[in-house]
Amino acid sequence: MLDFIREDLKQFQAYTPHPGGAVTVPLDILDTNENPYDLPSDLKAKLAGHYEHAIATNRYPDGAQLELKSAIASYVNRSANLPQAPITPAQISVGNGSDELIRSVLIATCLGNQGAIFTAPPTFSMYRILAETLGIPVVQGRRSTADFALDLEDARSQVQAPVRVVFVVHPNSPTANPLTANELDWLRRLPKNILVVIDEAYFEFSQTSVVAELSEHPNWVILRTFSKAFRLAALRVGYAIAHPDVIQILEKVRLPYNLPAFSQAAARLALDHHEELLTVIPQLLQARDQLHADLAKIDALQVWPSAANFIYARLNNGDDKRLGDLTQELKAQGTLIRHTGGGWRITVGTSAENQRTLSRMHGVLA
Ligand SMILES: *Cc1c(COP(=O)(O)O)cnc(C)c1O
Repeated sequence: MLDFIREDLKQFQAYTPHPGGAVTVPLDILDTNENPYDLPSDLKAKLAGHYEHAIATNRYPDGAQLELKSAIASYVNRSANLPQAPITPAQISVGNGSDELIRSVLIATCLGNQGAIFTAPPTFSMYRILAETLGIPVVQGRRSTADFALDLEDARSQVQAPVRVVFVVHPNSPTANPLTANELDWLRRLPKNILVVIDEAYFEFSQTSVVAELSEHPNWVILRTFSKAFRLAALRVGYAIAHPDVIQILEKVRLPYNLPAFSQAAARLALDHHEELLTVIPQLLQARDQLHADLAKIDALQVWPSAANFIYARLNNGDDKRLGDLTQELKAQGTLIRHTGGGWRITVGTSAENQRTLSRMHGVLA
């Protein structure tokens, strides 16, 4: 059966959001790092009105996405304080989620036995998964178990031919640590024939970005998304910021109409109202600090500091099998968190959700 399928895909494990069986209780969805708040209803109504009156569903969407790119460029410049060398729309490419942009990067660099990628687990698994779907080899680096910083000696020895692309997350998922000064120095000094992808999916939470340095590094690509702080995960919009020459290549390999008109409109609306949408960020960060302090008091857990809207924890005794069983128990009680990389990645939710997370965790660990 299926003799026409590539051998390497027959064993391939796809990404499974919300793994595990069905549950019967209402779920606190805290395993995908979304903002717990939906778009405010007045903005939803505005978007619905735009859909009704301004989007012709029989017409293809704007394939060049020019207005969205301009709006993104102004947002990036405003939030980075970049009056000197502002980012231009020619430095922006938009994707059907940043997942699409990751795939475009892979297609543009390593496809067809042209190279391999470097990624250091525990980290965002889509780099490896998408590389595998394209038959691209993955070289895996190591991290410190104390703070999850990259083992740079190991990285230096591994990042050479055939590696062409290095993927890092700033701050990392699932471990929530931002890039350290040493890691940034290493990235700055990588030769120009290595493409460095710095995924800033959690920028609005961390407020740390390398965008001000982009003009000095034509081999860097910054990825951002509307799926987290901006509350638009349902609509799949991500963007890349890079040198115009790199952007041109990403534009060449993407599908012509990769972003539906409705999604483009939603992202523009979110940018027009970014101040309002982002007002909940300080309150989520405060809730994160509270949840972190409360989790750190549980003796059975080791909890790491977080620069994002999620918290990483492991069992002190390192029993990953038990952690998997407890994840299922929590889910049966109505709290869904992600078991990954030997630990738990717990999204910060509303205060009611965080309260339930905490008391159920006390319950299962008692
Ligand atoms: C959530 C997340 C993304 C977002 O992906 P989209 O496809 O834009 O929804 C990208 N990178 C990391 C590290 C993430 O955690």
